[in-house]
Amino acid sequence: MTEAWGPDDDKPRRYSGPVRVRVPAKINLHLGVGPLREDGFHELNTVYHAISLFDELTARAGDTLTLTMEGEGTGELALDESNLIIRAARALAQRARVPAYARLHLRKSIPLAGGLAGGSADAAAALLACDLLWGTGYTKEELAEIGAELGSDVPFLLHGGTALGTGHGEAVSPILARPTTWHWVVAVADGGLSTPEVYRELDRLRDSSWAPEPLESPGELMTALRQRKPAVLGAALANDLQPAALSLRPALAEVLKAGYDAGAVAGIVSGSGPTCVFLANDAAHAEKLAAELETTGVCRAAVPARGPMPGARAV
Ligand code: ATP
Repeated sequence: MTEAWGPDDDKPRRYSGPVRVRVPAKINLHLGVGPLREDGFHELNTVYHAISLFDELTARAGDTLTLTMEGEGTGELALDESNLIIRAARALAQRARVPAYARLHLRKSIPLAGGLAGGSADAAAALLACDLLWGTGYTKEELAEIGAELGSDVPFLLHGGTALGTGHGEAVSPILARPTTWHWVVAVADGGLSTPEVYRELDRLRDSSWAPEPLESPGELMTALRQRKPAVLGAALANDLQPAALSLRPALAEVLKAGYDAGAVAGIVSGSGPTCVFLANDAAHAEKLAAELETTGVCRAAVPARGPMPGARAV
């Protein structure tokens, strides 16, 4: 139950009852990857885009910290101290000097290790849900600062929309384009790909003859977002990790081909893969494309989705 609303935020200050937070998956419309830095991260220049594929986290008062789940990855995903939800709740409790007591339940739809940042999405949801449950009253920026320690994509998943990500992805600035809804089909693969492995493969493919150039800001993509034409956006989609994901999972080339054969405007590997996303002209086209992709059997599931979507929100 809502008790009070903040003055300059759409976030209620404190809840006495269960808190339910919905958080989107992300795709990268542009993912430029620089060389490996000394701190172990790669310099990134990316355009994040939040889509309508959601995880949902419910937080209830408790006298210890527990996590249960249902949906994607159940039985596979550890629910112990290694889970990003537990780590996020503990990080918030430590910062706010409150006991980390909550009963958390995850309804997961974002595939595990799919290149859709499901783990970071769940961390973002846990930060917001526990902040509301405990009445710790942090701003989105403060939660993003805590979240950046947990995963590079957490700050974006608190903000949502379409945004530029720099640094190792944790520095986020919104892209203010005219409101346009883009229609996508998410082709979910069987099994995941490890993000660190995909980055290692990229470094290997680049080998010693690769001469790094300064990362360019994604001007073509920014212009395409303003034009609101799917064909123009489709031509501007780019992902430096795609060759590495294809090298580790050559069958993804068949998924991309199947998408184009089915009439997609464009197709790209999402982040580190193995999920592929296809751009459609409109909602009806996305439905048709998803149905056709499913019949080809090249992916586990093909789901229409819209973007941009808001970040983690209480519902
Ligand atoms: P990214 O695109 O951010 O690299 P991803 O979508 O490829 O991530 P995730 O589903 O975010 O992959 O998970 C990566 C790993 O994080 C998982 O294999 C799992 O071991 C760990 N993890 C910890 N907590 C979670 C969580 N709540 N949900 C998903 N993965 C989690």
